[in-house]
Amino acid sequence: MTDVVVVGGGIAGLVTARDLAKGGANVVLVEASGVLGGMIRRHTVGGIDLDMAADSFATRTDAVGSLAIELGLGNDVVAPDPRGAWLMTRDGRTAPIPATGLLGIPSTPMAADVLAVVGQKGGLRAQMDSLLPGPVGAKAESLGELVRRRMGERVLDDLVVPIAGGVHSTHPDHLDPERVAPGLRAALLREGSLARAVLALRARAAAGTPVQGIRGGIARLVDELVADMETYRVDVRLHTRATRIEAHAVDVVSADGTVDRLPAQHTLSSVPDPERTTAPDRTGIELVTLVVDQPELDAAPRGTGMLVHPDAQAVSAKALTHATVKWPWLADVAGGRHVLRLSYATTATDPAGAATSLPVDPADSVGSRALQDASTLLGVPIAADRVSGAARVGWYGPDLTAPGLAEGVAGIGEATSGRGLAGIIAAARKTAGQILHS
Ligand SMILES: Cc1cc2nc3c(=O)[nH]c(=O)nc-3n(C[C@H](O)[C@H](O)[C@H](O)COP(=O)(O)OP(=O)(O)OC[C@H]3O[C@@H](n4cnc5c(N)ncnc54)[C@H](O)[C@@H]3O)c2cc1C
Repeated sequence: MTDVVVVGGGIAGLVTARDLAKGGANVVLVEASGVLGGMIRRHTVGGIDLDMAADSFATRTDAVGSLAIELGLGNDVVAPDPRGAWLMTRDGRTAPIPATGLLGIPSTPMAADVLAVVGQKGGLRAQMDSLLPGPVGAKAESLGELVRRRMGERVLDDLVVPIAGGVHSTHPDHLDPERVAPGLRAALLREGSLARAVLALRARAAAGTPVQGIRGGIARLVDELVADMETYRVDVRLHTRATRIEAHAVDVVSADGTVDRLPAQHTLSSVPDPERTTAPDRTGIELVTLVVDQPELDAAPRGTGMLVHPDAQAVSAKALTHATVKWPWLADVAGGRHVLRLSYATTATDPAGAATSLPVDPADSVGSRALQDASTLLGVPIAADRVSGAARVGWYGPDLTAPGLAEGVAGIGEATSGRGLAGIIAAARKTAGQILHS
């Protein structure tokens, strides 16, 4: 009998299957699509291989870095360009993101880079934080309320809304401070001011950059993990969809309609319970990638990219990554051209079309909107005849309404551990370790 059946061949399933098989377990990995990697995959735009979604990982733990070393990619772990990103405020002004904040909360409210965004009045109001008694705002239920009470509306709206809101795709009034900034509340009470609490948390964070990438792209992690499936003899079944996941068996159906039941000592799933999942409309994002030959962009006019206030009217994009500035290795590959990636909010009614890279004509509505937004955001007009490649990819979910897994099924991946490689990989490896030692 199989020791473990792992459902879903995204990064979570691959990491878990590898650890289990390496530890001597007999593992079957079932993946509904024809490829492994899930959301981690690459596409080719204008002849350049690019990550289709994730391009970096958080360094708050060493989970991804140590996996990269184990996979032989240690020498290719790289930091992004230190120039940092910019933001566009609600009224369309652009300025660099202040250097020493946390989720947009400044540690020095009167610093020049903060005043450039919030103005003198906004800075003075934020400075009042240092005069307020420590407990003010400490019991706030949301990050928004906490910042509003300590530093005022301008810091909240001009900095925290685009930055924290952009990272977590929701208004700070709906973000739990303990979840998005663990320790901030306690530091506020200890330090007596929010600015000093931010400073204390930043000092505690690991030295170096908060994110890193991999030369050649994050998808190289998947390349190595896929190679290890063979090395450690994981029985990988592509085009095999789990239809029922129980503690000791997984029912699957293959592309030709063949139904099978896979008994196992343990079952692990990185997908919501297929039996209990409905298919609600989901809000997602669409990424539009442009490869352009525009020498004026060599000067990196907006650093590594821009975050846009959700109510800004000047553009419809929510963010722009100037990927060839952010990743010097990519600039080398692109040979003087620039890679720009814009993200747009979108509502999906058919997540089946997700994760597919579709070519874009710079003259069609998607292409011309992206060109216009990129021109506005970067302050450099970009003409359609400068575009040597363009593509769009839709990403939807996760399905937060999906109920949990059946009793006895161990959850891994985004559905259980939340979005982001650092948390997913750490939790997946812990689960694999527990099974091996059970
Ligand atoms: C646009 C975008 C940008 C991102 N950027 C970053 C970033 O920069 N840094 C970062 O850390 N994270 C980023 N993320 C998040 C990160 O990519 C994901 O959290 C992570 O890849 C999820 O991995 P997973 O294995 O949990 O799920 P998935 O990658 O979704 O894998 C699940 C797999 O299960 C398969 N499957 C589904 N149903 C079934 C079934 N019934 N039976 C069998 N198989 C099934 C799917 O086909 C898929 O292959 C980004 C995500 C997106 C969409």
